[in-house]
Amino acid sequence: MGVFGIIGKEKVNVASSVYYGLYALQHRGQESSGIVVNDDGMFTVHKGSGIVNEVFDGESLKKLGYGNMAIGHVRYGTLGTRGVINAEPIVINHVKGKLAIATAGGISNASALKRELEMQGMIFHTTNEAEVVSYVITRERITASSIEEAVSRAMYKLEGGYCLLLMSPQKLIAVRDPYGFHPICYGRRDDGQYVIASETCALDSVGATLVKELDPGEIVVFSSEGVRSIREHCGTKPERLCIFEYFYTARPDSSLYSRSVHEARKRAGALLAKAHPVEADVVVGVPDSGLDAALGYAMESGIPYGIGLIKNKYIGRTFIAPGQDVREDKVKIKLNPVKSTVAGKRIVLVDDSIVRGTTCAKLIHLLKSAGAKEVHLRSSSPPFLNPCYYGTDIESRDSLIACNHSIEEIRRITGADSLGYLRLEDACKIGEGSTAGGYCTACFDGKYPTGIPTSYVNKYEKKISDNESVKVKESEEAK
Ligand code: AMP
Repeated sequence: MGVFGIIGKEKVNVASSVYYGLYALQHRGQESSGIVVNDDGMFTVHKGSGIVNEVFDGESLKKLGYGNMAIGHVRYGTLGTRGVINAEPIVINHVKGKLAIATAGGISNASALKRELEMQGMIFHTTNEAEVVSYVITRERITASSIEEAVSRAMYKLEGGYCLLLMSPQKLIAVRDPYGFHPICYGRRDDGQYVIASETCALDSVGATLVKELDPGEIVVFSSEGVRSIREHCGTKPERLCIFEYFYTARPDSSLYSRSVHEARKRAGALLAKAHPVEADVVVGVPDSGLDAALGYAMESGIPYGIGLIKNKYIGRTFIAPGQDVREDKVKIKLNPVKSTVAGKRIVLVDDSIVRGTTCAKLIHLLKSAGAKEVHLRSSSPPFLNPCYYGTDIESRDSLIACNHSIEEIRRITGADSLGYLRLEDACKIGEGSTAGGYCTACFDGKYPTGIPTSYVNKYEKKISDNESVKVKESEEAK
């Protein structure tokens, strides 16, 4: 999931800046999109199911109107949390005023908190985490002297890997959890507006210069009085940046903890080439997230890099499609081999990850049908063995191919001529040069920084709610 916000002194067309920012963050979620504009404390919302340019058009952006601040969200839905009803940001009215909330990542104790609140009589309208967060914060707000104090108190109750972006009538507040699992940063434009975004690539898209990435546990408050950092939670937990942000989630033109994602992926490819060399004619990356590692593999091995697969740019990330049938169809229409690169060749096929094994099995079949002599599969991340509780959509162990099969079995199932994964001991080396104090590698090694959340409700066991099929655009006017 991705968040984006903007705040300045003048009343301007903030909605269009958020729109551009969300566009740059689209890779972080394609399930729903939303923007809330704040015009002197009057909040106007537009959100709906789908990607940014499906939800917004000239008309809806115009309706959002002008303001001096706004926040937006792109949602990466997991089964049980899809549907327009779960689109963020959410806007709530509480005893001390209005609040808009957008969340990114995963709050691992959300189910427990929700249950506790329900037992106290709260009624939930959605299954998103923003609503849980909203209750936790607004309850604190009753006795806290300010919204930021309420947020800080709420953080003692929230667990997991989350970033929050909140908008009160007067302030924007950005939050990074104390482990710092997922990125959030802010920058400044020449016109003095501050911009907050999940990734640096979104700052670039609106012409903002990076000021800083939030530290783990940091709360940054933006208002007409300037920028203030609250560091009460900083240093209270060991730093644990999600290593999968480097491998897959973030865009290669972003930097995380001062480390270019593109360079990190290239390094993964180079380490992979050292660990799993093979004699071949060409290195082909799976677009898009396997391309950088393929380049690294080619540079390290000396095998020429080739463009062997073309991606239809108009199709979203395969994983995000609901249901196995849809995903399989999508692989076929999403990627097509370049025959002149692959025919008669021994290919090293590099992908960023093998999760269920569906994608690479299809691709190997496609490449061989296009005349490839051999296909040597290389994964630039280690085998996926564990589900993620911190916001990455990695499912239950049953569906993870590496959980149920040996490397040799996976090779056979996928039809590869050889198979090699990045070694676990090399995984954290890809962030070399970054300022991160440590990484979360739980999906590979099961070492969960927060421990395994006992009350976690397996989202894949939930049934799809009726509103899933609702394909409407929701426009709420809070004016
Ligand atoms: P699979 O067919 O399940 O092995 O899917 C592997 C592909 O899904 C890789 O090409 C990745 O780029 C992509 N992928 C890996 N993890 C995720 C995720 N959490 N969400 C969406 N896509 C993913």
